[in-house]
Amino acid sequence: MPTRPCWVETRTRSLEDNYRFLKSLAPADAELLAIVKANAYGHSLALCAPAAVRAGARWLGVTSVEEGVAARAVCPEARVVVIGGLFAGDGPAVIAHRLTPVVWELSQLDELEDAARRAEAPTGSLQVHLEIDTGMSRQGVSLDGLPPLLARFGAKSPFRLEAVMTHLYGSDEADGGATDAQLARLDEAMQQIAAAFPEAATRPEWLSVGASAALLGGEADAIASLAGRFGLRAMLRPGLALYGLVPHFEPPFEPGHEPAALTLARIRLQPVMSWKTRVASVRTVPAGTEVGYNGTFVATEPMRLALLPVGYADGLDRQLGNRFNLLVRGDQAPIVGRISMDQTVLDVTGIPGVEAGDEVVILGSQGAEAITAFDHAHAAGTIPWEVFTRIAARVPRVQV
Ligand SMILES: *Cc1c(COP(=O)(O)O)cnc(C)c1O
Repeated sequence: MPTRPCWVETRTRSLEDNYRFLKSLAPADAELLAIVKANAYGHSLALCAPAAVRAGARWLGVTSVEEGVAARAVCPEARVVVIGGLFAGDGPAVIAHRLTPVVWELSQLDELEDAARRAEAPTGSLQVHLEIDTGMSRQGVSLDGLPPLLARFGAKSPFRLEAVMTHLYGSDEADGGATDAQLARLDEAMQQIAAAFPEAATRPEWLSVGASAALLGGEADAIASLAGRFGLRAMLRPGLALYGLVPHFEPPFEPGHEPAALTLARIRLQPVMSWKTRVASVRTVPAGTEVGYNGTFVATEPMRLALLPVGYADGLDRQLGNRFNLLVRGDQAPIVGRISMDQTVLDVTGIPGVEAGDEVVILGSQGAEAITAFDHAHAAGTIPWEVFTRIAARVPRVQV
């Protein structure tokens, strides 16, 4: 572990509790795919994927084959779904590491089929999840493009269509209009798929739809009932909620109309990450002293300043300079001046006794005060997903 004191603490017990709570919210025969992509949203794949498995997760979701290989190394039994697509050259690793690819292009099936033939994979042995574009226009096959893809799942193919997947683009909108339209398109796709697999035994088993906002925002039952109409079971894919954040809905729910799951989640979900540093040194400066690059802050009185070994190269957004507080000695201390690549200065004039070595909370709680990823996101004009995932690789992750 580096000696420079800037680190992330990952509370795996909280992640386990969050997983079990989310599972309890899901419809009875539904499964959860625990999303651990992008190094478990910056929380550490190596710590979080096994924690999810300990809590009962059988399915993990990662972005790429490379992340899938890392997940397989720490979770030998879990199903690992590669949700971000397959690229040329990925086929052999999919087979060697028993990964489950999401596909929507013929070229991806070509890549897999080639690898399957070389590995002499038996007929129907390669489980594949097929993504349908139901309106997001990002990845997935359109309804028109389905027939040639479905034709690749014939009796002699190495593939088995295990799940049909789609991604919702407006599940955090409380009015639900976008989701209703997407589920209607998914229903049409399912009719085509059911017709292509007339025997129930060859039908896909799972309908994989919906992230944290769908699970907490009251869409899970609609997804499960759509799955049930075609003899499939629902799979929901929470990410953010697993790490203890309750998604914001925009537009919000009308007063009194918030789904019970969302109200409960505010009480039950616990943040998994704390991001901390320690005061490197403290100085007292006279009124009129300029602080940091370009002197964007000028001391208004004699001030005490604390230097922190954290900067934008660690993932602390530079826009937070002169407009955000961190926690020291249980109190809020303003960031003064510009955030540098590796350093940040706090005004601790109003907090008696601050000295070198004091722990500073960048994200997390200290005493009665807390800073959330939503607070960072609002101040930096972004979303908590980005706040988490840009905490740099050089910041060590430790389990607490
Ligand atoms: C990232 C992702 C999720 C999880 O989203 P959250 O909003 O973090 O719960 C689910 N499904 C897909 C396809 C994703 O890319």
